[in-house]
Amino acid sequence: MSKDYYEVLGVARDADDATIKKAYRKLAMKYHPDRNPDDKQAEEKFKEIGEAYEVLSDADKRAAYDRLGHEAFKQGGMGGAGAGSGFGGFRDPMDIFAQMFGGMGGFAGFGGGQARHADPRRPGSDLRYDLDISLEEAARGCDKILEIERLVPCDACGATGSKDGAKGYKTCPTCHGSGVVTRQSGFFVQQSTCPTCRGMGQTLSNPCSKCHGEGRVHKDVKITLHIPPGVDTGTKLRSSGNGDTGLRGGETGDLYVFIEVVQHDVFTRDGRDLSYTMPVPFALASAGGVLSVPTLDGAAKLKLPAGTSGGTIFRVRGKGMPALKGGARGDLMVEVQVETPVKLDAAQKKALDTFTATLSEKNQPECAAFLKRAEKFMS
Ligand SMILES: [Zn+2]
Ligand SMILES: [Zn+2]
Repeated sequence: MSKDYYEVLGVARDADDATIKKAYRKLAMKYHPDRNPDDKQAEEKFKEIGEAYEVLSDADKRAAYDRLGHEAFKQGGMGGAGAGSGFGGFRDPMDIFAQMFGGMGGFAGFGGGQARHADPRRPGSDLRYDLDISLEEAARGCDKILEIERLVPCDACGATGSKDGAKGYKTCPTCHGSGVVTRQSGFFVQQSTCPTCRGMGQTLSNPCSKCHGEGRVHKDVKITLHIPPGVDTGTKLRSSGNGDTGLRGGETGDLYVFIEVVQHDVFTRDGRDLSYTMPVPFALASAGGVLSVPTLDGAAKLKLPAGTSGGTIFRVRGKGMPALKGGARGDLMVEVQVETPVKLDAAQKKALDTFTATLSEKNQPECAAFLKRAEKFMS
C-alpha cells in the first residue's frame, strides 16, 4: 500500500504549490541515487518522492487524489470521468527530477520538445559563386551562364532517401522522435544528439542505394543568371532555390553570386562616377577647341577652352554608371594632361624658337608670377 503523498513530502493537506515544490526539492536532493549509491531504500524513497510530487504539483491530479486517493491512479482502476483514464502510469522519477533541476544543467523545458524533430527533412545549404564581369557588362547588365556543382533531388527515391518513400521512416526507438537523449550526471542533465538516428528523430529501414538515404545527389548544372545594370564589386545577387537541395526532401538553399567588376583599361570607377586622365596636345590645350573623348556609349565632344592647363577636370554629365537601385546615371570626369612635345627634329626646334621669341609675360603668366615670388631665393 502506497504512503500518503502529503506525508511523503511532509506537507499539510492545504499546502500551496510553492511549499510542495520546496519540499520536493529538498527531499529529492537528499535521496538522489547519485548521493546514495547502492542504497535500495534511498532509491525507493526517491521514487516515492517523485510520484508524490508529480501528483501534488498538478492541479487535476491533486484534485483526483484528494477525492479518490491512490485509486485514482491505478491502471484500469475506477478513476472514472477525467481521473485515472487520462493519467496513465507515472513518469520516470529521473525525468521529474530533470524537469525541476534542468535549468542548472544549462537547458530548460525538458519534456516540452518531444517529437519536435520528428520530421526527417533538413534544409539544404546556400552556395556561393564568385563571378568576374567587365565594366561594360556591369554598366549594361548581362546574362551569364554559371556552371556549378550542386546537390539536386534524387530521382530514384523521389528525394525521400527511402526505397519505400515516406513510409520507410519510423520513429526512432531510442529517442522517441526527439532526436536527443538526456543523461543524468550528478545533479546536472546533459542533452546530446541521439546516437541511433543521429538527431533525425526517425530511422530509415530501406535507404535508397543511389543517394544512400540522403534524398539528394551531386550534379553539375548550368544556371542562367541575369546581372542587372549598375552592379559593383561587392554586390551580392541571390539566385533563389539554386543552392543545395535539402536532406530527404528538405527545403532547397539559395545561390549567392558575389560580383567582382574587373579593372578596366580606360575607366576608373568611383561609385556611379567614372574617370580617366586624358593626354591632350599642347597646341589644342593652348588654342582651345573641341576634344573628342571616349565614353561607355562611344565618343562625346568636349569643348576645351583656350589656355586649358594640365590637371583641369571636366565633367561630362550622365556618362557614368547607372544606379543599381534606380536614379540618375553618374558622370564622367575627364582630367586633362597637357602633353609636352618630345623628340623634336631640327626644323621643329627652329620653328619653336621662332614661336618662343614672340611670347611675352602675358602669354605665360604662371612662369612670371612664380619667378617674382621666388626672386629673393634666386640671387
Ligand atoms: Zn533517435
Ligand atoms: Zn535516392
